[in-house]
Amino acid sequence: MKVVYGLMTQNGDAQELLWDLGFWESEESAKEYLKAEMASSRGITVEPININDAIPIHLEELEEESMVSCSLCGIEYNREDVNMTDYNENVCVNCEPEYRDNPNLHVI
Ligand SMILES: [Zn+2]
Repeated sequence: MKVVYGLMTQNGDAQELLWDLGFWESEESAKEYLKAEMASSRGITVEPININDAIPIHLEELEEESMVSCSLCGIEYNREDVNMTDYNENVCVNCEPEYRDNPNLHVI
């Protein structure tokens, strides 16, 4: 059993874990992220999460393998949010609409 820290948002009566954002090994780093990246978001708290060994989630994989940086904006996203197959570059969901409309914009 391992404890990591994730960000939890209040959704009506229920708390919802923000899986997409990943996990932190320490409460401090999770709070720092929250402060730095989500200062304008209300109702998000840092919560300890017990990861059972039976659940095949490894922090190392989450951090190193599931994160892909977008070639255009340089921000790291989860793999599901980056299109790595349709283009020569890794294009994140945020950049994709513009990229698709005008790929020449981004050719160096
Ligand atoms: Zn991008």
